[in-house]
Amino acid sequence: MAELNRGTKVALQGGGYVVIKKELGRGGQGIVYLVDLDGAQMALKWYLTDPGDKFYRNLERNINSGAPSDAFLWPEYITKRENGSFGYVMKLRPTNYYEFGNFLLAKVTFKSVTAMLAAAMKICDGFMMLHRHGYSYQDLNDGNFFIDPRTGDVLICDNDNVMPQGEKSGIMGKARYMAPEIVDGGVPDKYSDQFSLSVILFMLFYANHPFEGARVVACPCMTESFEKKFYGSEATFIYNPNNDTNRPVRGIHQNVIRRWNAFPKLLRDTFIEQFSEDKLRKPNTRLIEMRWKDIINKVRDEMVICPSCGEETFVEIQETSNQCMNCGKTIDTSLRLILGTRELPLTPKTEIYIDTDNIPDGKVAMDSAGIMLIQNVSPDAWIVETQSGKVKQVEPQGYMPAKPGLKIKLKIHNVDYNLEITKK
Ligand SMILES: [Zn+2]
Repeated sequence: MAELNRGTKVALQGGGYVVIKKELGRGGQGIVYLVDLDGAQMALKWYLTDPGDKFYRNLERNINSGAPSDAFLWPEYITKRENGSFGYVMKLRPTNYYEFGNFLLAKVTFKSVTAMLAAAMKICDGFMMLHRHGYSYQDLNDGNFFIDPRTGDVLICDNDNVMPQGEKSGIMGKARYMAPEIVDGGVPDKYSDQFSLSVILFMLFYANHPFEGARVVACPCMTESFEKKFYGSEATFIYNPNNDTNRPVRGIHQNVIRRWNAFPKLLRDTFIEQFSEDKLRKPNTRLIEMRWKDIINKVRDEMVICPSCGEETFVEIQETSNQCMNCGKTIDTSLRLILGTRELPLTPKTEIYIDTDNIPDGKVAMDSAGIMLIQNVSPDAWIVETQSGKVKQVEPQGYMPAKPGLKIKLKIHNVDYNLEITKK
């Protein structure tokens, strides 16, 4: 066992060293230590057995290329080989981030639906950036994601298994998160990652697994050959409309049973499609991350604050009046902000997210006379045009009336957006 003692100096490739302070945790592959690097506290993942030259070179290459986005707790330094092994140094995970598995076990819960949606968006964005950089993730599971339950911010860890697409790290992911073609022995790529992304998103929203229903419950013992069936050759979505043999079981899959119909139809339809026999068999027809982001945007548009109870609730966009999920009172959702194919129902206190950075750009308010307003909470001024062609500027933190017919031009991260207020 290549364990390291407190006070040991470990030399870094390219100069310098880290000093072992204490063990933070261990898994099958290695031990994570708290280390000191020139006075900074960092984490060192140290492999129990040397994973080999190819692995070392890949890690080195990933360090040189840098993190695809700030969603990744990316390797920053690699050590020299000593004591028959090596390791890599990364930033410490902040203590307010919890393992995704803890959310699934309800040990940790999201503070709000807003935070849950922010997490979904951040995961999609992280995967998009990863694939744009030519990588595939390979070993995806609920132990790789750490989420801040208050904000929904996500950190993706264990990035040592990230490889260029078409290459195999040799470290197999967990069957529960693998695409059927990988369970059957294929090489992970962006398409299999896209499948895994849909699984992660499903679990994020519904806190149950999309393929674990009656058939899996009836299984006497989860052997490797059963695993290959349930997640591979015979994978059946629990809400497959054409096959009801694997429905969720009452008392066991309560979360998904409770949430399936409470969450928007758009989500249900998307998962039904992504987990259909067709998409399971044809990897290159799966939803790309960019489209997932559009869908998360639309789902977020359907989340409003109930004017009666002040709680978050989903509404169906086709309806101009909806029932609150919490208090059951009717919510008028006829006033909308239109942005391309998106429609954002406006109710007081609802936050408006235009782009996908998880930072609200506007907020609906009500003045003392009961007139609905929109506050510009973005850093740049908005240009508002009335139906008669008058143009006004709404400064950051300023307000404008939420009046049908008004057009808004705004810029976020250098992208132009054109919005219009309508009443359905
Ligand atoms: Zn309510």
